Amino acid sequence: MREKVPGPTSKAGSIPTKMGSWSTVKPVLKGRCTFCLFCWIFCPEGAISQDEANKVVLFNYEECKGCGICAHECPTKAIKMAEPEPRGGE
Ligand code: SF4
Ligand code: SF4
Repeated sequence: MREKVPGPTSKAGSIPTKMGSWSTVKPVLKGRCTFCLFCWIFCPEGAISQDEANKVVLFNYEECKGCGICAHECPTKAIKMAEPEPRGGE
């Protein structure tokens, strides 16, 4: 089982924000991640976890508000903000 280390904001006791499907954009890992953890530190929602075993960050889309701070702070520009998948029948 992969251990997920939650971000410092969530550890500091911020009020959890369940965004569900309300976010209009979401962060996606597209480029080279050096596991520097800048995004993990800067995320105001604690929505980024560390996957220590695989040296990669994970996004919790239930808590992500789509602010894009992680993408802005990433030194290798590995994070892209993507439009959500279109939903059928809407
Ligand atoms: S978009 Fe904002 S809330 Fe979502 S993971 Fe990035 S920094 Fe956190
Ligand atoms: S800031 Fe970018 S390079 Fe650093 S851990 Fe996050 S995604 Fe990876």
